Amino acid sequence: MPAYEFPDRLNGNAVNAGDPQHRKNLADVLALLHVGGPQNRAELTRRSGLNRSTIARLVGEMVNLDLVRESEPRETGVVGRPSPVVQANDGIVAVCVNPDVDAIAIGLVGLGGKIISRVRHKTRRVPSVDKMISIVSKVVQSSLAKLDDECRIVAMGIAVPGIVRVDQGVVEFAPHLGWRDEPVAQLMEERLGYATFVANDANLGTIAERLYGTAAGKTDVIYLNGSRSGIGGGVIVNDRPLSGVHGFGAELGHTSVARAGLACYCGRRGCLETEVSLSRLLDIMGEASIDPDDLGPFVVASKDRRLRKEVDRQLDVLSVAISNFISIFNPEIVVLAGFLGELLEVNPERLLERVTSNSFHQLSADVELVRAGLRSQHLLIGAAELAFSPLLNDPISFAQLKA
Ligand SMILES: [Zn+2]
Repeated sequence: MPAYEFPDRLNGNAVNAGDPQHRKNLADVLALLHVGGPQNRAELTRRSGLNRSTIARLVGEMVNLDLVRESEPRETGVVGRPSPVVQANDGIVAVCVNPDVDAIAIGLVGLGGKIISRVRHKTRRVPSVDKMISIVSKVVQSSLAKLDDECRIVAMGIAVPGIVRVDQGVVEFAPHLGWRDEPVAQLMEERLGYATFVANDANLGTIAERLYGTAAGKTDVIYLNGSRSGIGGGVIVNDRPLSGVHGFGAELGHTSVARAGLACYCGRRGCLETEVSLSRLLDIMGEASIDPDDLGPFVVASKDRRLRKEVDRQLDVLSVAISNFISIFNPEIVVLAGFLGELLEVNPERLLERVTSNSFHQLSADVELVRAGLRSQHLLIGAAELAFSPLLNDPISFAQLKA
């Protein structure tokens, strides 16, 4: 844990820092604290399977490296000497970015996965890479002024709605943003000076939900995220993210659900993302943009019958896609994020009933269908996992590089 390994570029700076087993133990214990939150040494001993003296040594080493902090013991009521509480140093911060066609979300996330601040910067036009970098630069400057003196930004993670060559930090194609072959990581590093990593937004959202959200502890997960940039998917099979031969797998938004549907940029008709579409809802609502978390309350409060009818139509189409995914992957849980989570909230009975009646009964009988627990924060938290991955993979090398 975390169970996810990002590509080699993220581990390319390792320095020779001694015994590989020792480095692995440090990484394991830091990951337990990062994902599991504050805990005492006894809990760390039990969860890691290492012995007490090893845990004491590892924690001491990471306190010296300022990666973790120890505080006063909690009152447990148990007789005997209480053990100090250890936690990941949440002053180690990642800048996390999620560009969309109508806004750029920018967050600061501390080690431990907690969001320190989040800004949704609306844009009048679809942002270019250059525009995104300018906006991020301004937001980071103003956020830095408010940050505690002990906080330090160590890296940046960008969740992009498109096809990304993660090992090179290049966005190969983000159709809704109009980006093609953009070396986003390199450009961001040149302007802001932080090591920058880029990946597909839905893949990062899947990892965030698997680690901290509704899919925590699940080994077989279907994740669907809906935004103005269409529908992204993520699949976890047997506790491994499905990536495909080029790393572009799980494009669930481009599965065909309506042969006579609208043309999709991918060259086909009636893809899930052309039929279940936030843009189509916004057109009826007469709105240009909406924070995904606000869509459900808007629909529930609306008296517009056209809007309710379109929501019902989209729920029905979504149910067809979900029942297909259930047949293919036999998941434990289907997580709906972004505006898809809002659609579920508006009418969970309709979606559940349709999914169940469309599905092969034995496969759908005990599948959970839930909204993303991290709400609109999931992509930023996923981007933070990406940004923190070099540190989490090899804490001692990272700390030495930063020293
Ligand atoms: Zn398509």
